[in-house]
Amino acid sequence: MKKRVYSGIRATGRLHLGNYLGAVKGMLALQDSYDCIFSVVDLHTITVPYDPSVLQGSIQEIVLDYLAAGLDPKKCLLEIQSQVPQHTELAYLFSTIYPVSRLEDLPTYKEKKAQYPKYVNMGLLYYPVLMTADILLYKGELVPVGIDQEPHLEVTREIARKFNSMYPSTGSGSLTFPEPVRFKTNGEHVPSLSGTGKMSKSVEGSYITLTDDLETIRKRLRAAPTDSGTKGGEIPKEGGVANLFKLLELFADNKTNTKYTHDYRQGTIRYADLKEELSQAIYKELAPFQARRKEFEANPKLVESVIEESIRECQKMAEETMKEVRKKMGLE
Ligand code: ADP
Repeated sequence: MKKRVYSGIRATGRLHLGNYLGAVKGMLALQDSYDCIFSVVDLHTITVPYDPSVLQGSIQEIVLDYLAAGLDPKKCLLEIQSQVPQHTELAYLFSTIYPVSRLEDLPTYKEKKAQYPKYVNMGLLYYPVLMTADILLYKGELVPVGIDQEPHLEVTREIARKFNSMYPSTGSGSLTFPEPVRFKTNGEHVPSLSGTGKMSKSVEGSYITLTDDLETIRKRLRAAPTDSGTKGGEIPKEGGVANLFKLLELFADNKTNTKYTHDYRQGTIRYADLKEELSQAIYKELAPFQARRKEFEANPKLVESVIEESIRECQKMAEETMKEVRKKMGLE
């Protein structure tokens, strides 16, 4: 049997370069050889402040981004998390075997608490448990996600191990759940344009979206912090300049990279030129995506029918796992 792959993205806004390089590129690399399920995780979306009146629209935007990026419904299943209610059922069952204290210690939880001090809710704490249920509902073994998700995957493996030992398989002896690992890509951590942290949909000024035109990309990069550039020496390891060089490495060719590294070392770097070349390199990568997206936007009926069919398939697979789990836990 082929390995199963699972990954999801929140509907908190348009996909950005971090989502694309850290997650979507991995999905694209795996869809030809594995059984893949890719999700719009709307239940994770609502753990931070959001506007219910635009949520459905935001979900559709991610679906369009997925299709335009090249996820092919003939090769993979696409789901919307809340339409497969088994996710929440399994998450609740897992929550009964996992300690609260471990969840409170997770760096992502602490970050979100600091970001939204008035919005610290149970769902936020519970995020890694629901993510575990997302993956294990389909017995996912490979998870194409950015490096920021590694602590959550550790929780997933702990829960899988604990469940398998508390509720062992009888008969065939096969374990119920695999211990999933992250599928790494080159862009597993795309830095923020603001100079600190990672590029994120929920941090204004940090990102370039996949639908930005050349002028918008230029504008966003122009606002990225640099230094006076006159000192020369080694390229810093962190901060605005380090992040621009990281983006150059991810998007520009070797010649351009070498040129600006040399200019930095000599103290002759001109950031306006670097930003212009970087804008063009990024836009060159995004232009074909944007053209495909327009085609899907013009065909909403096709998109809708693809998703409906896919979700029905996901529901069937999910129910198979749940039958097994309910039985093992003595609930059936
Ligand atoms: P965001 O933080 O932008 O709202 P999500 O939490 O929806 O993004 O994450 C969706 C996927 O994109 C995850 O696999 C995550 O690891 C990946 N991802 C998000 N930001 C980055 C980044 N800056 N670099 C690499 N991968 C990222």
